[in-house]
Amino acid sequence: MRENTAFVAAGLSPENPTSKRVAQTPPRPDRTKVGMISLGCAKNLVDAEIMLGSVLQCGMEITSRAEDADVLVINTCAFIDSAKEESINSILEAHQQRGLSKRPNQKLIVSGCMSQRFSSELREFLPEVDAFVGLDQVSELGQIVQSVVTGGDDPGRVLLADAARATGHGHNFVTPHPIYIPDYDTPRFRLTPVHSAYVKIAEGCNHPCSFCVIPQMRGKHRSRAPESVLAEIRGLVKEGVREINLISQDTTYYGMDLWSQKAGPRQPVDSSRGPTLAALLRKIQKIEGEFWVRLLYTHPAHWSDELIETIAECDKVARYIDIPLQHIDESMLRRMQRETSRAHIEKLIGKLRAGIPGLAIRTTFIIGFPGETEAEFETLLDFIGCVRFERLGVFKYSEEEGSRAAKMSNQIPARIKNARYRIVMSTQQQIAHDIARKKVGSEIKLLVDQPFLARSEADAPDVDAQVILSETAPVGEFTWRRITGSRGYDLLA
Ligand code: SF4
Repeated sequence: MRENTAFVAAGLSPENPTSKRVAQTPPRPDRTKVGMISLGCAKNLVDAEIMLGSVLQCGMEITSRAEDADVLVINTCAFIDSAKEESINSILEAHQQRGLSKRPNQKLIVSGCMSQRFSSELREFLPEVDAFVGLDQVSELGQIVQSVVTGGDDPGRVLLADAARATGHGHNFVTPHPIYIPDYDTPRFRLTPVHSAYVKIAEGCNHPCSFCVIPQMRGKHRSRAPESVLAEIRGLVKEGVREINLISQDTTYYGMDLWSQKAGPRQPVDSSRGPTLAALLRKIQKIEGEFWVRLLYTHPAHWSDELIETIAECDKVARYIDIPLQHIDESMLRRMQRETSRAHIEKLIGKLRAGIPGLAIRTTFIIGFPGETEAEFETLLDFIGCVRFERLGVFKYSEEEGSRAAKMSNQIPARIKNARYRIVMSTQQQIAHDIARKKVGSEIKLLVDQPFLARSEADAPDVDAQVILSETAPVGEFTWRRITGSRGYDLLA
């Protein structure tokens, strides 16, 4: 773990990839102190890291103690209803706490997906908030904090917080249709353990999935230049990072928006047409140092033989693929507008298993999407039983305002969703426990997260299983261990 970073994570599970983190640097009484509570996924976490980098660049301090903060930033998530609820509760709790800790001058700033999407409504609903910032402002948080606290450099300017109090509404910095994407030299204060980092290779999404509002919040897909990504990874590996997790909304589409001839929604990865994930992985493979690189959030529509061969040939690429499938029933895939079919997915899984020996596949499914019949649910259950995914998460469908699916007539009652959720989870539990038991006796390369806790290539941080060590090992380094037993999803070594 980073020497000067306090790190708090709560509520993590394979089905609830929500995390809450608070960051800290050593105290300097003369400076503005900024606290941050970051909710939601790894993409939001990278935004939090960039916001904190901007705060430090402006000469302010970071604190993990909300009660010590002059400015507290709540980096919200709006993925599903429960995430929105958690975000609102965090804001209200922060407001209540500033009253209890007698810091009436503490400012509250709300950032992240919920702020980007609902800042106008939230200004009315949450007058407690001093300012709302969006996704295009993440690298400018330092200046925004200064403005909120002091009114900026212009002495004649009305303090934004005073203005907010006068109008009864927080200041709204959010701009619509985000276009921001970070670069390799964007100041960033990492919130992950020192040996593991997320690298955001693209932002936004061009897919039209009918249940999802992420494209409305995060904008069109935009890839970073390959050189920018490579420069960042080189720097991280030099700092001692052993695990690079590549993230975006659609990692397999990486680079295709940079092609001179526009790539369609089902375009497979094809390096003859321009920058691609496959070409990027080959260049990452050439970076010196001992590390592994992990692919998260790939879309089934863009996989190609070229990408599978590349992964098989690059030993620094973890034998792990995260590929959210959402459903398998043909009619459901059509209604979800997944731009892929059952035949395509089945063929792809066959190719992945055959082309990349030892591969662990992680996926997520949505149950209870509008109109999902018992037969369609059974189709999904049979598929899960046949494929035996090493890692699997399930979401109960959540009606997202502004999505096409929210307008569909035949919404599924909560009790049916809950029942289907339990059935999928217990089916998968048996599969995962069985897969874990079969690992006993094998020798596996592990990355050590804590003296007695490690992860294998098959385990992404925060969402997957762990390996419990009987003997301590150096944190942040790789070690080889023989698996001696299993405990549920986890392994013993
Ligand atoms: S691929 Fe679909 S589910 Fe994923 S972010 Fe894009 S629109 Fe949303």
